[in-house]
Amino acid sequence: MAYRAPVEDIIFTLKHGAGFAKARADGLYQELGDDDLNAVLGEAGRFASQVLAPLNASGDRHGTLFRDGEVTMPPGWKEAYRDWAAGGWNGVAAPTEWGGQGLPHAVNAACIEMWNSAAMAFGLGPVLTMAGVDALAAFGAEELKKAYLPKLVSGEWMGTMELTEPQAGSDVGALRTRAERAHDGSYRIAGSKIFITYGEHDLTENIVHFVLARIAGAPDGTKGLSLFLIPKFLPGPNGRLGVRNDLRANRIEHKLGLHASPTCHMIYGDHGDCVGYLIGQENRGMAAMFTMMNEARLAVGLQGVAIAETATQQAIAYARERRQGRLHPSLPRVRGREEEEASADNGPTESVPIIAHMDVRRMLMTMRALTRAARAICLATAVALDRSHLAPDGDARKAAHERAALLTPVAKAFSTDIGTEVASLGIQVHGGTGFIEETGAAQHYRDSRIAQIYEGTNGIQAIDLVTRKVPLNGGAAVGGYIEELRRTVDAVRAANDPAFGATGERLAEAADSLAQATEWTLAALAVKPDAALAGATTYLRLFAAAAGGCMLADEALAAARHGGTSGDGADRAGRIAIARFFAENLAVQAPALARMITEGADAVLMADAGIGAPL
Ligand SMILES: Cc1cc2nc3c(=O)[nH]c(=O)nc-3n(C[C@H](O)[C@H](O)[C@H](O)COP(=O)(O)OP(=O)(O)OC[C@H]3O[C@@H](n4cnc5c(N)ncnc54)[C@H](O)[C@@H]3O)c2cc1C
Repeated sequence: MAYRAPVEDIIFTLKHGAGFAKARADGLYQELGDDDLNAVLGEAGRFASQVLAPLNASGDRHGTLFRDGEVTMPPGWKEAYRDWAAGGWNGVAAPTEWGGQGLPHAVNAACIEMWNSAAMAFGLGPVLTMAGVDALAAFGAEELKKAYLPKLVSGEWMGTMELTEPQAGSDVGALRTRAERAHDGSYRIAGSKIFITYGEHDLTENIVHFVLARIAGAPDGTKGLSLFLIPKFLPGPNGRLGVRNDLRANRIEHKLGLHASPTCHMIYGDHGDCVGYLIGQENRGMAAMFTMMNEARLAVGLQGVAIAETATQQAIAYARERRQGRLHPSLPRVRGREEEEASADNGPTESVPIIAHMDVRRMLMTMRALTRAARAICLATAVALDRSHLAPDGDARKAAHERAALLTPVAKAFSTDIGTEVASLGIQVHGGTGFIEETGAAQHYRDSRIAQIYEGTNGIQAIDLVTRKVPLNGGAAVGGYIEELRRTVDAVRAANDPAFGATGERLAEAADSLAQATEWTLAALAVKPDAALAGATTYLRLFAAAAGGCMLADEALAAARHGGTSGDGADRAGRIAIARFFAENLAVQAPALARMITEGADAVLMADAGIGAPL
């Protein structure tokens, strides 16, 4: 089944779950009217559904071809990329002074979801270029910006992001790629990087590598890292390409999924003449790289949402067609449209579409609710990022910066975890057919898996949340956020609408559980950090259960006020149903998660389970 970009859905979540409407009421986004928003996202949705989605399965089958250091992309990808870049999509949120459209990050985030739903291997490449643009614009010398930003913003050239080496994965500070100052102010780079996404390809004539390396004599660890821009071709006169730089791709990897995204082993300085240019200051590379990584982490979170959306659409379509079994005559049941159609067409003894079976409905509801919650969390992160740039006063910008910092690891890890969970449920809904490649359900599952690993594994995201983000501002950043969640709970209760069921109660418990686990974690960090770390991944899940549940409730409340009908983004009954399902079936796990955090750590630390003692 073909992907259909859920543009109205995304816009509604952006406005009412993620805080875009509130930000606009506070004076941000004034230049972007509803018509503009609908037009931009509508056109992005059309391009994603009509141009990119048809390339997804063929890209997976063909993969990329490596020969003599060159990579050939699958058929049709070069043309699609050319049209995509010509449409200005690479520069949606890039600064206007470098040729970008200067639109909010939140709008770009919505676009990124759609590119990745259509074809994740396609959507991944530009994300790295966009991240490079941000770092270069923020930290680069003027001359470097002039030489590279216009072509990176337009998409005429693509970028990469390069940290990983065999001995330096999560431990970035262990990397060994070296840089030496040259007389002309540039640097000579020597070393190699592994697993580099789009390190070599034929989509663009030049590729700009953003590489972390250590200058001779620099301190050990991350404090001694510097960020370099290393072009495949040095720019020549009049905007033409100059000489080939001393770098090459040595091989590409054979992978579980994402076959159309070339993952390259890169070698720098075979002949001692790989030219690189410093971005920012020497030994301050991590600051610039964090600009890239935060942007890329949100984008990877959006990949999780993207895959979950596609998998859900496909599973619903399949469940409406596939007929198996009969309804048990004695079962009291809520008749859905499909079930009624089934009975009318075939009589009560005929087999029914599997969507009529409660267990299939449970899977589909779980898929939809997780997808919507993750989308809201990712878009809220993007809105916070926009606020951190656009808010009129310094205090508001600082608060928004902290909010974005708090939400980024949750957006990345929760969304990619549920991406794989939802893709797995998608296969389950298909039964055996889902395990067969032709369906496409299997590709979603294979493609989704890497998003939990790259851009900092989800374990590292959880550690970042617990050890750096929760303690922000003495815990005030997270404390303020939990207070906001409680205001949503109060609003649900005040609505006094029976359609919400136990939503208010379950979300109140989730917010209380998060507050309790937060207090415990902050205390544990000081006296028994191992215990806090043992619960980090669970804490992130608990955070997402409370935050996602409240965002879905915000959407439902907005839809109830709006009084929308099925078919438009507001869809009052649908929004309430999803919010209620999430609260009663998913957020309800929050007290148990809190207990795992506060009581389960000792068992994680026990030495006698046969996996060896903690070191
Ligand atoms: C398809 C693909 C594309 C990629 N693209 C890029 C790219 O473009 N650029 C780039 O630089 N890299 C890229 N990577 C590399 C990727 O970012 C790393 O694989 C990832 O950061 C994890 O590093 P690692 O593989 O060395 O795993 P390790 O760091 O060895 O981790 C193994 C396990 O140990 C856990 N772990 C490690 N350290 C800790 C710790 N301190 N505390 C708790 N748990 C820990 C991890 O969470 C993980 O579960 C890509 C990888 C793949 C497979």
